[in-house]
Amino acid sequence: MKIRILFIITEMLDLYTQLYRRFQRKPMFVDTHCHLDCPPLFSRLDVVLAAARDCGVTRMICPGVGSDDWEKIAVLAGTYEAVFPAFGLHPMLAGAYREGLAEKLAGYAGDAVAIGEIGLDYALPDVPRERQQIAFREQLRVAVDIGLPVLIHCRRAFSDIIRILKEENVRRVGGVMHAFSGSFEIAMECLKLGLSISISGTVTYGNAVKPIEIVRRLPMECIVLETDSPDMTPEPFRGRDNEPAYLVEVARKVAEIKGMDIDEVGLITSANAERLFGLEPKSRGIGETENGVNGEKTNQ
Ligand SMILES: [Zn+2]
Repeated sequence: MKIRILFIITEMLDLYTQLYRRFQRKPMFVDTHCHLDCPPLFSRLDVVLAAARDCGVTRMICPGVGSDDWEKIAVLAGTYEAVFPAFGLHPMLAGAYREGLAEKLAGYAGDAVAIGEIGLDYALPDVPRERQQIAFREQLRVAVDIGLPVLIHCRRAFSDIIRILKEENVRRVGGVMHAFSGSFEIAMECLKLGLSISISGTVTYGNAVKPIEIVRRLPMECIVLETDSPDMTPEPFRGRDNEPAYLVEVARKVAEIKGMDIDEVGLITSANAERLFGLEPKSRGIGETENGVNGEKTNQ
């Protein structure tokens, strides 16, 4: 008899925990830049997506790096409701840019929420700047033609990037300066071009100066959040592979700098991402959809 009562109590506690988890108010976040197709994340994707869901990171944008990855990303986004695809050739692979790639990109872009990640990286000594600029410009043209926002990678190339973005009319489509590392003045130049500023794990680092100033001085309406996982792991997880669940640490730091509630940071940055990328607002977590565990689509 005692065992039976104990069993019933355990069952009730379990049910209570499940209901509590389901209905508790949890802030929602969008990770606007995570490389889920990269081996450290892809090899344990179910665990990564479940952890993201538990932390309220309900939508993730997975950008392309090399054109060989695009199919993998398309399949990933077709499989998981929480994952949205972007396609592009990263500047580190600009040497591989060939005629015909723009057509291939346009072919993939139909299902994408953005073109990226594209840009210029002058910290890469082995990729000629001229090649990088050609690849960047051609891909920008695809984005503007199709009407998709861009995910921009920029290292030590701000003056060229601003010039090319102006020349190619990026204002018509908008986009994001991903893992922004520039000054407040450069951020203002980007805002004038209709771009948003994406804040990554660097804002949590002990020696962060510029990212903190950016968050402090920019209006929340211009800010989106990202992990750039598996890179740029925020504190206190530095040393491990980054993953979308750790976006919460970025949001927590933004909330602290702004003197805001983390829920509010989630709400505003998610609304910014929805507006920019045309994401469907979802009120439920990725594990709570009718499409099965982790939001895996069953009708594909
Ligand atoms: Zn990236």
